[in-house]
Amino acid sequence: MKFDTAYSLSLDDKLSIYDVRDLNFDETADFDSDTDHFLCPNDVCRAAFDTGNTLSTFNAKNVNYKRTPHFKNKTGTRHIEGCRYASAHRNAAGESDDDREENFPSEFVLTRRQYERKSHLTGTENVTLQEPTKALSNRVATSHGHNDTTPDKTSVFAHPVECYVSNIDDKDKLKSMPLKIGEHTATYWAFFKKIEYLQDNKGLIYWGRIKAIKDYTSSFRIDFEKKVWLDKKPYAVNVYLSKKLIENYRKRTAFLEQIKAAAASEHALYCFFYGVTPQLKLVPSKKNPEQTFGVFSANIENLDHLIIREAPGVE
Ligand SMILES: [Zn+2]
Repeated sequence: MKFDTAYSLSLDDKLSIYDVRDLNFDETADFDSDTDHFLCPNDVCRAAFDTGNTLSTFNAKNVNYKRTPHFKNKTGTRHIEGCRYASAHRNAAGESDDDREENFPSEFVLTRRQYERKSHLTGTENVTLQEPTKALSNRVATSHGHNDTTPDKTSVFAHPVECYVSNIDDKDKLKSMPLKIGEHTATYWAFFKKIEYLQDNKGLIYWGRIKAIKDYTSSFRIDFEKKVWLDKKPYAVNVYLSKKLIENYRKRTAFLEQIKAAAASEHALYCFFYGVTPQLKLVPSKKNPEQTFGVFSANIENLDHLIIREAPGVE
């Protein structure tokens, strides 16, 4: 059993592991998962121990991960009797974790979650020293409406993508899990659309295997391997990522590391994106600028809604 959610002592809030990754890579956020303390998300259980009773993270900082990120118990992590996270304790001894994301958010929220530090103390060590039990039990008392279940919404695109990719061998599951994005509600299965079928519907999460990533002066271009057929003719599909957009991105360093590694990678890589639908455009031919050819293309508008990753088993 894996935890996808834990209580962050520095933020005094419950975070998903995808929130943690987002914060770790965010150059504008004062956050480092290595110095935070992650505690059991069960309020009652957490209140029973001091803040040294922590969980560890898995793939919280790896830009290009293969195995599903999660929180897990350390060998010495304790839980109260009946805590639903106690059974995960056994895995601390090194048993293999089931490598799939089991917590399907029912909504992908398009505006980014704001994480506010509620405590005036910035150092987690200070919090540890100052009556942690009292502080924690106060929080429990004021959060009676909350429970330890995982948050139902996410604003981190990697979370629904991980649900889809790691459960790709279980189509029934993907067809049964609901997902809401904006005003549109469908199943995970229906929301993820192979790039070659992008004409089927607008506003979906499109994905496909990357053929090449071109590094131009003012943009990167991601070419997809599959083509779109229109009137019995095949058209190439691509998306452009403006370098200006990347320069101003709060996760710039991690993003550049990822796309440069992807451009040089010999592994099969896939691109997932949401928010734009490639449209047929006529572009001048390089060899003969008077001639044009058609290509389905889009400019990515929000880098938070694009992912390049390996996705074993999707084809
Ligand atoms: Zn617990």
